[in-house]
Amino acid sequence: MMKEEQVVWKADSSNIYERFIEQYDEALNGEKELTAGDQDTRYALKLQQERLREKNVKMRYRITPRGFMADGKSLPRKWMDRHYVSEMAYYTSLWERVIEPSGGKPYRQKSKMTIYETKTDVIGGSNVEDEIYVCPGCGAPSKIRDLLNGCQYCGSKFQMSELYPTITSNYLVRDFSFTKDEMKKHLMKFMIGTAIGTFIFGIIIRGVKGMLSPLTVGSIISLILISVFSGVVLGYVLSSYALIGSLIKQAGRTVPMMGAIGAGKRFEFFMKKYSPEFSYEYLTGKTIAMLKMILFAKNAQELPFYLGGPLEGRFQDLVDVLFRGAMGFRSMKEKDGYLHVTVDVFLENAYVTDGKVRAGKDEKLRVTLVKNLNVPIQYNFSIKKLECPNCHGSFDATKNKTCPYCGGTYRIEDADWAIEDIQVI
Ligand SMILES: [Zn+2]
Ligand SMILES: [Zn+2]
Repeated sequence: MMKEEQVVWKADSSNIYERFIEQYDEALNGEKELTAGDQDTRYALKLQQERLREKNVKMRYRITPRGFMADGKSLPRKWMDRHYVSEMAYYTSLWERVIEPSGGKPYRQKSKMTIYETKTDVIGGSNVEDEIYVCPGCGAPSKIRDLLNGCQYCGSKFQMSELYPTITSNYLVRDFSFTKDEMKKHLMKFMIGTAIGTFIFGIIIRGVKGMLSPLTVGSIISLILISVFSGVVLGYVLSSYALIGSLIKQAGRTVPMMGAIGAGKRFEFFMKKYSPEFSYEYLTGKTIAMLKMILFAKNAQELPFYLGGPLEGRFQDLVDVLFRGAMGFRSMKEKDGYLHVTVDVFLENAYVTDGKVRAGKDEKLRVTLVKNLNVPIQYNFSIKKLECPNCHGSFDATKNKTCPYCGGTYRIEDADWAIEDIQVI
């Protein structure tokens, strides 16, 4: 028997992307804090954990970088505002997921995935001491200067390296590439399988034909030779067919996304007219993060950045969301200083209904985003430290509908992107 190859991977602790991957699995179980992720990323994770708890479902991930980009690769583009710079990197990896409903059968999955992460850092030389940061100790929004000296609410002291860089968005996309070794393994599996199959078939045939004469050394050797030969030749052919078959299946799943693939460039071209610092990568990461929070929230309408109507009830059974890597641009409309952008987002969702897991459900959501055109993007934006347009106090928008200092109301779309409508297509 072939031994299952145990992939050993160790995160480089000085690399925030790798620390994030290492923490993510255990953070999902609630065993570890996701310190490499920013407040909004942690909040999204918290909402998903609450959903899992409420549904009595345990879910585990294991992400192990492998393949062509096991050491990570940075995307060439960076996007920045006055103080912050963001960039993205991806790691090809092996992803294992177990979804275990209480009392039900655990659903296990193993697949190749690429994990995309956005890292946000302070631009070198930029003074951000007066900028607001959510205290990693107690969650209160504070000036960075205060956090460096000791948080005025909880007393925790931080170093700048503990605050930035931070991972501000992440998602997993299926990876269909094969490394040479994986190709060999795939081939070997079919060759050995076919050889064993031929051997067993040979023995059975003898019985069927009534040739029940005792097996001689000669007949066994010839059967072994035939089996090996058929393993090599037929196994090769079968493995190719299996590969083509799975590619056709994947291609079939990809067809509905065709219009969306490569839409980034066109989208960016239109958007740059409105905001020169527009980044397609940022909007994608942002949209996925907001969608996850909306879909996992107990009541989506209580989220500050969701302005739409109630969601379909079945989303209450949703336990995991994967982004399929394509976001298609549909339309945009400018009205009274606000930009409304409609995009199609392709997701692969996992549901647990009555203790039964249904994973791999492809879904397309038509999402309309809105943002005030006159407000520049801030790449350190967080719903956990919204700035009051009235008194400039900072507060957690997930907990306050109005400013706790002056009682003023706010519109989140005056600060960053919000989602105003979601249609299931
Ligand atoms: Zn604190
Ligand atoms: Zn205020």
